[in-house]
Amino acid sequence: MDSPFRWFEDQLQRLEEDGLRRTRRSVTSTGHGWCRIDGHSLCDFASNDYLGLAADPRLRKAAHDAVDDVGTGARASPLVSGRTDWHDQLEKRLARFEEAEAALLFPTGYAANVGTIAALVDEQDVVLTDRLNHASLIDGCRLSGARMRVIRHADIEQYERELKKAADARHRLIVTDGVFSMDGDLAPLVELAELAERFDAWLLVDEAHGTGVFGHHGRGVCELRGIHSPGLIRVGTLSKAVGAQGGFVVGPQSLIDWLWNRARTQVFSTALAPPCCAAALRAIDIIEQTPEMRIRLHHRCDDVRARLIDAGLPVPENATGPIIPVVIGDPQKTVRAAQVLFEDGFFVAAIRPPTVPRNTARLRLSLSLAHSDDDVDALTSTLIDVARTETP
Ligand SMILES: *Cc1c(COP(=O)(O)O)cnc(C)c1O
Repeated sequence: MDSPFRWFEDQLQRLEEDGLRRTRRSVTSTGHGWCRIDGHSLCDFASNDYLGLAADPRLRKAAHDAVDDVGTGARASPLVSGRTDWHDQLEKRLARFEEAEAALLFPTGYAANVGTIAALVDEQDVVLTDRLNHASLIDGCRLSGARMRVIRHADIEQYERELKKAADARHRLIVTDGVFSMDGDLAPLVELAELAERFDAWLLVDEAHGTGVFGHHGRGVCELRGIHSPGLIRVGTLSKAVGAQGGFVVGPQSLIDWLWNRARTQVFSTALAPPCCAAALRAIDIIEQTPEMRIRLHHRCDDVRARLIDAGLPVPENATGPIIPVVIGDPQKTVRAAQVLFEDGFFVAAIRPPTVPRNTARLRLSLSLAHSDDDVDALTSTLIDVARTETP
């Protein structure tokens, strides 16, 4: 008799034939931006630890102290008994850091986006979402039940047309990545903020790749662009530049109070592990006190991007910051290029559909201060050689 799971085997076989079956690896970070995979030592350009804080001794110490203090797990959801002093401190610290009235923690950035959007809008409302938004934003929009308008990437005129049409809706919500995670370009926030005010809409900006990286104080792309709209809602993650784990939302007190009453991914999920809170608290201090880190990171990114573009590699012009896509197009070619890099000792992500649109498979470099100058230099030269042989 056929296995009841035969269907999955067939589907996986089809993914394999289309070059779309994923592989998983067990990656051990070994310090200074290096890792070990299947016994190979590789320089890791596939992680989001932009400031190199994930292995920082100060964060480790903070996490250890929290373990010694209260143990590993939070034991319950925040509304029952899971909200410790560490959570309280971190929420206050995040609000201060982000110059917002209040902050709310979520178990992950994914949960923050899904839970927040679904708590803000429903069938009576319209949500406008960029086609290239992160999956967590899209899932939040879908789950909310709001009427969803998918906007061509950064197309301000389409936003405007859809907002006009949505005049009769109860609420209008614009949802966008601050930094687009697979493209490295920034959302047109000045224009979106203007539209949000003109059409009485809320503007939700996902700062997942912005926090710690953009803006003078490291608050993100909204800081960089000077966005202070009355209807602004910012979501961030503690899992990327902050080097810990968890998600957060910052905004006015009324919004935050509503969310901790109603955001289901926060109400019905165990609170963040206290050691993550402690590590994040330490990281926020470091991020705030050392703007030099950001300057150094951006110099490094600008330099690598310029070298790749000069060598004729297909790096989109509007990419900025530590995410550098090299758009090869064909998924199989992209995987082959990543494989060649892997054999040369560089771990670079091959990103394929459905994570990115069809025919835009790409190598996605993530630069970090964890790397040495020499390692970044070696990667850049090798990548130029490899991409030249893999792109027509
Ligand atoms: C990574 C990411 C998230 C999810 O954050 P996690 O803390 O990893 O769950 C949300 N939005 C964007 C744009 C991201 O890149």
